[in-house]
Amino acid sequence: MNRKFWLFILILITFFIAQSCLRKVDEETSLVDLELIKICKWKDNASTCVMFTFDDSNKSSINISKVLEKYNFKSTFFVIASDLYTKDLKEMIANGHEIGNHTYSHINLKTADSSKVDFEIRMGKETIENALKIKCVSFAEPGGQKTPMSTRAVFRYHLFDRNYSEFQGAKRNFISYSDFTNVEPLMKSLRNAINEGSILVIEGHGMDGDGYMPMSKVFFIQTLDSLKKYTNNEQVWLTTVKEGSQYENLYHEISLEKKQLNNTLTFTFKGYNKEKYKDLLVSPISIEIPNILSEKLSCLTDSIQITKLTDKFVFTLDLKRNTNIVMKIN
Ligand SMILES: [Zn+2]
Repeated sequence: MNRKFWLFILILITFFIAQSCLRKVDEETSLVDLELIKICKWKDNASTCVMFTFDDSNKSSINISKVLEKYNFKSTFFVIASDLYTKDLKEMIANGHEIGNHTYSHINLKTADSSKVDFEIRMGKETIENALKIKCVSFAEPGGQKTPMSTRAVFRYHLFDRNYSEFQGAKRNFISYSDFTNVEPLMKSLRNAINEGSILVIEGHGMDGDGYMPMSKVFFIQTLDSLKKYTNNEQVWLTTVKEGSQYENLYHEISLEKKQLNNTLTFTFKGYNKEKYKDLLVSPISIEIPNILSEKLSCLTDSIQITKLTDKFVFTLDLKRNTNIVMKIN
């Protein structure tokens, strides 16, 4: 009887201690609503990612790149590896543009046999890498012609394909300079991509009489002026295929673990595949924190890029350098 009584008292005490601990955790959690902190789909929480791409090894590519640089825009130039303007391409790389593979000799990947397809894709990449001393990670099919076999070969040698996302349901929209003669169709495609939060690929070839269905420089500048208005509003992230596609991949591959201990918050990015992205120099990812929360937090981790938007802060880190952000709750 005596033992049963003390056992009962012990259970009662344990119950009350557990209750008060749970209440304490609850109070701490309510300091910051962790649900409001999310991984951004695009850099600096942009609504869409726009990629300029220009195909074939056109002599005018260097002039196109110089026009883009006046706007601070970067582009991906998909070159035919058997026909490289090496000096021009090295200058374009130095100015931030990307050089991608467009096969070794611009063959139709739909009609070629599997060994030819493999050779054209692999030799294109190797030739570009040897001539330009870069890692070539992006690919675009000549004429958009492909088969499941050629797509497998593309991803065997490259991280990204301009025409396809690695992830089902991740939509890409396309518009080509050969398809429009005033800026309105381009703006319509852009508004559509903003609404969908998807990628818009703007395709071209050469300029001013050079290459397949070339655009005029005057019209090219008109389109860039219109796009610049949108980029100024922080809604559009204009970048290269490799940067935009890596962001898209990481958004699907990475999960965010949020832990709160006393007044310290730790965000851990899980699922980064170091080996997969070994050929890229950086692997940036961002989280958004609404103003209402950011006022309570101070970042304790170095080398985080912080961008202030009207209603939120965006914290960007390079997953190659670190996979945690630690914050103090003030
Ligand atoms: Zn082509």
